[in-house]
Amino acid sequence: MKTIGLIGGMSWESTVTYYQIVNETVKRELGGLHSAKVLLYSVDFAEIEEYQTKGEWDKSAAVLAEAAQNLEKAGAGFIIICTNTMHKVAPVIQKKISIPIIHIAEATADALKENGIEKVGLLGTKYTMTQEFYKSKLIEAGIEVVIPDEAGVTVVNNIIYNELCLGIISEESRKKFVNIIKQLEKAGAQGVILGCTEIGLLIHQKDVEIPVFDTTQIHATKAALLAIE
Ligand code: GLU
Repeated sequence: MKTIGLIGGMSWESTVTYYQIVNETVKRELGGLHSAKVLLYSVDFAEIEEYQTKGEWDKSAAVLAEAAQNLEKAGAGFIIICTNTMHKVAPVIQKKISIPIIHIAEATADALKENGIEKVGLLGTKYTMTQEFYKSKLIEAGIEVVIPDEAGVTVVNNIIYNELCLGIISEESRKKFVNIIKQLEKAGAQGVILGCTEIGLLIHQKDVEIPVFDTTQIHATKAALLAIE
């Protein structure tokens, strides 16, 4: 079994879910007392968020690259970055290590294609929804992407940083997300990507009509299956 190198803490609320899913998946596949071999490098999210806000992506890349190098030295077979947003700097990190980074948007694009989705709604941080680094992976896979309007982008982004990353789950915010997903559906989305690793703490398949693609579930499951391949 390969050792999974997790770069987590962005936020730790969703890293908990990653740890749970990799172990549940290995247990389901191998049975008995089997569990995942995991190395976790968990960063201080306040530092990363400050770099995001200031647009200092090179500094955040340096922190995550050092984490990745340490995970490689410690014996990780591959790297999983436990956040969609920080895949913005995945190419920089990849250049500093010789083990692969399993890209969250590529894993998600595979899941969408398996389910015949050609047009999808994307929810995530403002960086993930409005910049190209993430959407380009979906577009390259032949999938059309729709995002909320400007007000919707702000609502989703604020709920992520002011609530979900702090472990606050509110019914009012769930309703706001459900309404925004309905708008995406009206715009033609056949499914919705929960493109922030904390959104799965708030929105579940039962809350909405269209199929939900939870990036934490998809990414962590792929990691576990790859580890035992
Ligand atoms: N976990 C979130 C994501 O998947 C947001 C936190 C971050 O900015 O990294 O994008």
